[in-house]
Parts: sequence; structure tokens; C-alpha cells
Amino acid sequence: MARIVMKFGGTSVANLERIRNVAARVKKEVEAGNEVAVIVSAMAGDTNRLVALCEEASPLYDLREYDVVVSSGEQVTIGLLSIVLQSMGVPARSWLGWQIPVNTSDAHGSARIQSIDTSDMIRRFGEGQVAVVAGFQGVDSMGRITTLGRGGSDTSAVGLAAALKADRCDIYTDVDGVYTTDPRIVAKARKLDKITYEEMLEMASQGAKVLQTRSVELAMKEGVRLQVLSSFEERPGTLVVDEGEIVEQEIVSGIAYSRDEAKITLREVPDRPGIAASIFGPLTDAMINVDMIVQNVSATGEATDLTFTVTKADFNRAVEVLKGEEQTIGYKELRADKDVVKVSVIGVGMRSHAGVAQRMFKALADKGINIQVISTSEIKVSVLIAEEYTELALRSLHTAYGLDAA
Ligand code: ADP
Ligand code: ASP
Ligand code: MG
Repeated sequence: MARIVMKFGGTSVANLERIRNVAARVKKEVEAGNEVAVIVSAMAGDTNRLVALCEEASPLYDLREYDVVVSSGEQVTIGLLSIVLQSMGVPARSWLGWQIPVNTSDAHGSARIQSIDTSDMIRRFGEGQVAVVAGFQGVDSMGRITTLGRGGSDTSAVGLAAALKADRCDIYTDVDGVYTTDPRIVAKARKLDKITYEEMLEMASQGAKVLQTRSVELAMKEGVRLQVLSSFEERPGTLVVDEGEIVEQEIVSGIAYSRDEAKITLREVPDRPGIAASIFGPLTDAMINVDMIVQNVSATGEATDLTFTVTKADFNRAVEVLKGEEQTIGYKELRADKDVVKVSVIGVGMRSHAGVAQRMFKALADKGINIQVISTSEIKVSVLIAEEYTELALRSLHTAYGLDAA
């Protein structure tokens, strides 16, 4: 007997037929003698619809009320799945975040899980009951509903698996595992049998939305055995593992992209000490994260250009903040470009191999794709390019690093 957490994303619970399919998968695990907690997302498209309603209601909405609205999609799917399970003879009950409770910070819209009380759930496992848990949501110390950021049901699943000391945390989705790159864009993408936590973390944070970044972070920290697999087909998925468990390590194991970047260039900024602080200080104060940065050396020693990226969601606020600081910073012109994409190649093998970045630059140059900004870390190289080249860049890089499926 094992204790397992199964998580099903939005497309896997998009309608009643699919919810029945999920229930059948759950029933199989129960019949095999396992204790099961199932985490579900809202039906595909529902959370987007709820977010749009908040924005329409008022552009400057209260994030606490936003959480009340956008968390509601999961209430529907836990109820429906519990009804279907019961109709199949599987004892089940639904759990909203606050009923467990899943205690979180009060950072509404992107709260962090602090603790999960599983005592009642475990007692009910003993009675043969399946727990059907709403993903994405929790409750803060004031008793108010919180959400964990978009894609947060993955993190709910990992958090619950850690709290339950589950043997496995299986993430069922609409692809059958983690691929070398998004299989919806590159037809030759290859499924990985295993990927290291570190690479998965980098893939997720660079835009591969198959797992929410925080879920990987948490799994790594808590040693949760994480697996990504298809909710539609029964075949092996991808295991997220420690580095030592991978025998033959590729230099580059994956390529990720993020369209969620916007580029801001400040032209003719005075080239003097303290200038970077005068630009990024006010952005930090406004809770705006800056991702990639380039600053040129000025030829005359007087003025230079500074380019950086922020998320598309923060873009309007960033421009507003910088316009307010125009006099203090003393730049000549602010240029903005939202039609950009960040493409990143990732692999722990980069630590011990030279020439990875050069291969990327050459592959893009061969296709006539101009690189606007570059940033690197120990296990990744990222470039910012024009959005229209996303597919061409992904396909070319995939081939250049020898990742194409046979
Ligand atoms: P869910 O609703 O089940 O949480 P998501 O849409 O959040 O599913 O994540 C699954 C999607 O992630 C896939 O449909 C795929 O298009 C995308 N994706 C991006 N990069 C990758 C990758 N490297 N491997 C697998 N899927 C990826
Ligand atoms: N329903 C939420 C979202 O769409 C959470 C999730 O699906 O993981 O972001
Ligand atoms: Mg998801």
C-alpha cells in the first residue's frame, strides 16, 4: 500500500466526460489498495475568464477579492469529481483550501504555503475515503482566501505530498511528460524519461509551464518524488530526480521560452556612479522584478543606453514609475517593446563544457535572428529576440544541440 497524491490540470477536467476519466484513474489507484489525495484545477479556461472579470470590474482591483473570485473555479471541479467518484462507489469528499487548512502567507495573488494540517485527512484515509482537494488556494492568518499564483495547483499538490509524506506526487496533464522543449511548438521535441530537479527548476522559471516553478522548488527542498504524466494515455511519464540518478547527462537537456517579457530601453542615461540604483530602486519599491539587464559603455564617458526586461504584467506600471523619475534619472528617451520573447537553453552539463553559448549564437545568426539581450547562469543561457522568430529559433536550436527525435 502506498500513499499517493494525484494532480489533474485544467484540460484534464475540462468537462464531465474528462472528469469521469479522472475518476476512473483514481478508482484504479484506490482498488490497488492505495491512499489517495487528488488535487484538481479549475476547468480549462475558467480561471482566465474569472481573471478577466476582475479586470473588467475595476482595473485597480483589491487582490483579496481577486483571490475570492479566481479561486472559485476549483470549488466546482472538486465537487463534481467527488460526486462522480461516489457514483462509481468510491467514498470521496471535497476539501477547499481553508477547510484543510492550507495555511499561506498573505501575499494575495501569489501566496506561499506555510503549513498544511493533514490530520483529519489522514484519519479519513483510514476509513477508505479519497480526499478531493482544490488546488491553487489557501487561507491566510486573517482567515482570508489566498491563491498561489497562476499554475499554482502544481504547488498545492507538491505541498500536500510533502505534508502527507506521500510516496509519490503524480502530475497528470495534457502532454505525456516533460519534453526537450514545448512539443506544441517543436514537433521533433523528445520526451525525457528523467530530468534533474535543477534543470526542471530552470526550465519552469524560464517559461516551460508544464510545472509551476514553486512546485519544483518545493519538491527539491522536501524530497518529493515528482512525476509528470498524461491523463489521457497510460504510459510512463517523466521523473524529476537528483543529479546522481541520471547516468548519461546531455550538455543541453532542454530549451524553454517565455513570451511574458517586455523590453524597456532608457536612452542617453548619464554614465555616473549610482545611476543603476536610481533606476532600479524605484522599480523595486514598486514591487517590480527586473529580469535581463544590459548597459553599454559610453564612448565619451557621458551618456549610455540601458536596456532591461520586466514581465508583461508589470510593464505599464514600470513605464509609469520611470516616467515619474525622468528628472531624477535624467534619461533622454524611453523606448518600449513588448514584441519580444526570451529563449533559454538549459543543462547541468554546461558546468563542465565550453562553447554552449557560442553554438546558440551561431544557430540564431545562421537564421538571421538578431539577439537583443543576453544573460547567463551556471546552467543556462538566455537570449531576448523578436517574438516573430519564436518558432524558428526553437526549432533551429533544438536541431543545433542534437535534441531532435529520430
Ligand atoms: P495543466 O493545465 O495540466 O496544469 P499546463 O498547460 O499548465 O497544464 O502545462 C502543460 C503544457 O505545458 C503543455 O500543454 C505544453 O504545451 C506546455 N509545455 C511547455 N514546455 C513544455 C515542455 N518542455 N514539456 C512539456 N510540456 C511543455
Ligand atoms: N486554475 C489555476 C490557473 O489556471 C491553477 C492551476 O491550474 O494550476 O492558474
Ligand atoms: Mg499548469
